[in-house]
Amino acid sequence: MEKSYVWGIDLGGTKIECAVLSAADLTQVIARERIDTEASKGYEHIISQVARLVSRVSEQLGVAPTRIGFATPGVLNPATQTMKNCNTTSMNGRPMAADLTKALGVEVRLANDANCFALAETHLGAVQDVNPKAEVVFGIIMGTGVGGGLVVHGQVINGLHGIGGEWGHNILEEGGKACYCGKSGCVEHVISGPALEEFYLSESGQKLRMPQILQAHLAGTDMHASATIERMLENFGRAVSTLINVLDPQVIVIGGGVGNIDLLYTEGIERIKKYIFNSREVLTPIVKPKLGDSAGVFGAALLFQ
Ligand SMILES: [Zn+2]
Repeated sequence: MEKSYVWGIDLGGTKIECAVLSAADLTQVIARERIDTEASKGYEHIISQVARLVSRVSEQLGVAPTRIGFATPGVLNPATQTMKNCNTTSMNGRPMAADLTKALGVEVRLANDANCFALAETHLGAVQDVNPKAEVVFGIIMGTGVGGGLVVHGQVINGLHGIGGEWGHNILEEGGKACYCGKSGCVEHVISGPALEEFYLSESGQKLRMPQILQAHLAGTDMHASATIERMLENFGRAVSTLINVLDPQVIVIGGGVGNIDLLYTEGIERIKKYIFNSREVLTPIVKPKLGDSAGVFGAALLFQ
């Protein structure tokens, strides 16, 4: 009975969400529930919130899971089996896979939210429309931060250190702004939403959010807004061209707030062509995601597929 269901949990900083899909038809959502993470109450409390949510959904369905995939804010360090790079910092250094297994009595698999995004869009989202047979897919997150996930033959590639797909911390701007990762000028510090807003502020002396900066650029009335959008496009082109040169994916999906900007799919693509090691007539299909906020939890459910 249990085998006919596939369980995923998106462990976010504010909400924990559980989705149960039909194993026979993964597009069918059998159950979906959310609970507050209450992260400020600490790590043990987060684990107990997960247990509370799982037992609530189990009761609802009349069946308990034996395996659950988790989308997490950071990754499990393969060497130490403890968490790292989580912005919910109480998770860092903790053996979360082991703790979840103990608390829930199930087998677990963990992947960061960018990897889950890439996996979900590959199997259930945008990639299905463009090239369902794609062997290599790269999912880009361009929002508050910049991250990514690599899917090869339908599976997430975590890599030796668990950092597979983390192109947001490649150095893009020599001598650029210091990053929390210890380096400076990372992709994330050039083309994330906050980085672009900061650039606009330093140029214009004014605080504007990305949607307003874009609007001002499109109206053609604000040279600083135009300089900010130019900075985004040019650096997007440089950063994505290196991804394509290394992986040459069949499809790239771009999620996140900044990733929603239409110009990336027109002028942004022209900038990539400037830098790519290929003829400039054709380029990798670069598409918007389809699943919205559901990508994390669906991707988590697919970790055991
Ligand atoms: Zn960095």
